[in-house]
Amino acid sequence: MKKKWVWLLFFLLIVEVALASFIFLNPFKTKEVAKTSSSSTEVTALSTETSSTSKEKTKWIESDTEISFPILMYHSLTEPEGNSLKVPPAEFKEHMKWLKDNGYYTLTPEEAYIVLTENKKPAEKIVWVTLDDGYLNNYTEGFPILKDLKMKATISYITSKLGSSSYFDLAQMKEMAQSDTINIESHTVSHLDLNTLEDSHITSELKDSKAWFDKELSQNTSLLCYPAGRYDERVQRIAEEVGYKMAITTEPGYAKKSDGLFALKRVRISPGYDGNAFGEFVTSYQ
Ligand SMILES: [Zn+2]
Repeated sequence: MKKKWVWLLFFLLIVEVALASFIFLNPFKTKEVAKTSSSSTEVTALSTETSSTSKEKTKWIESDTEISFPILMYHSLTEPEGNSLKVPPAEFKEHMKWLKDNGYYTLTPEEAYIVLTENKKPAEKIVWVTLDDGYLNNYTEGFPILKDLKMKATISYITSKLGSSSYFDLAQMKEMAQSDTINIESHTVSHLDLNTLEDSHITSELKDSKAWFDKELSQNTSLLCYPAGRYDERVQRIAEEVGYKMAITTEPGYAKKSDGLFALKRVRISPGYDGNAFGEFVTSYQ
């Protein structure tokens, strides 16, 4: 008698598993395939909804052609006073608002790596917002704007700038890194032209800064931002050897894998663009 019950239970279990896999697995699969070709509003809505917290909800859209996307390059967020690298905070806000209003999903370094290596994206329209150097105004002006809009950005910091009053400090860095808004990555120790250095010096600039971020922020620092955009094959090789996964340059263009993960192009944002002019500039860029 007992044996019969055991077999019956076993049989019921099998039926249940079979039913569950039919109901749950199949529709997901077909849905995902259907989504790849569409630029549906569903995806845009999803991206805004999931931009801040639940990663598991992200539906990745695969592509048959190579994905390319803008990596925006900002530096100091302040009045330019003739310096084309400085963008006023009010303009930065308009740019971020334009991206938000137009359904752009802001990538983290981790997501950008997936886009580049697996040729799929978490939303139809993607952008990676990067700020170089680690100016204090990135914390006082940029961080609140991004937080309010629930958008993400990556700041590449120069570790030797710690303690300097124009740059954010460790507490501010940690506050940003622990938020869901900012990723902190490496802009080396001392911001030297890497292509002019001896191998051992390149290694220490890249390795020491990575080790410092890894330890202080409990992360695996994956992105290197070349100081002044200077690099060569030697620098690329050492960057990869010490554990970086990607590097961003100052060469103009959309980022794509075929340029190489250690030679990613960016779109430099200069002062003087309101939201619409910025949108036109970024979308017409190649
Ligand atoms: Zn720099």
